[in-house]
Amino acid sequence: MISGRKVVFAAAIVALGLSLPASGLLAADKHGPHWSYEGEHGPEHWGHVSSEFKACSEGKAQSPIDLSNAAPEALSKIEFEYASSGLNIVNNGHTVQVNYDKGSSIVVDGSEYGLVQFHFHTPSEHTVDGRSYGNEMHLVHKNDKGQLAVVGVLIEEGEENPAYKAIWSNLPAKAGEERSAEAAINARELIPSESGYFTYSGSLTTPPCSESVKWIVLKTPVQMSDVQIQDIRSIMNENNRPVQPLNERVLKVSQ
Ligand SMILES: [Zn+2]
Repeated sequence: MISGRKVVFAAAIVALGLSLPASGLLAADKHGPHWSYEGEHGPEHWGHVSSEFKACSEGKAQSPIDLSNAAPEALSKIEFEYASSGLNIVNNGHTVQVNYDKGSSIVVDGSEYGLVQFHFHTPSEHTVDGRSYGNEMHLVHKNDKGQLAVVGVLIEEGEENPAYKAIWSNLPAKAGEERSAEAAINARELIPSESGYFTYSGSLTTPPCSESVKWIVLKTPVQMSDVQIQDIRSIMNENNRPVQPLNERVLKVSQ
């Protein structure tokens, strides 16, 4: 779960006899085998790190993908029913994740999926016609059958984005670190107002790479300043899985 550098950090914590929060680094370690974004535990080896991660190498419906040659279709509009949430951020050693209060959801094709958390990847995981973006936010939703729908928001370098300020001033720099703040956030303010999207059936982009994830990547990127992109990149380093083959799947785009 943690890189070599962070192993040293974990060992130091143990040596000092310090305790970490339940969802911190040491607890996260128990979740499974070690994987990372480079070296011998990097993306091309994930499928062999553990039998639980087999889908990473054998799956035929993996994510992310290059969003190109999409079939235009009259897709139903996604309804974002996002309420405010308190600010709870964790650095889990792979990404910076904001855990979202219950009570927010999206409705896609008549099915409701509750927003659980959102997190970030630098640079983007999905590409558009081969073009990579500075960052990508994944808003992870789950329905009452446990099925996942992930909304991807591409973030390009541009104007400073004030909507991200409350999160950016509370970024947990170290693996295992958690931050919470009174500041209420609303995920609706973090995403573009234009609702056109790409959609396809894919997977988690991290081990165990489980499939049957409904992917919805918004067509319109949001902007963030170079400083904002660098702020999070300096914490997560590069945490993007390379694009995977589309295989027999159909990529659709709203007209
Ligand atoms: Zn993600």
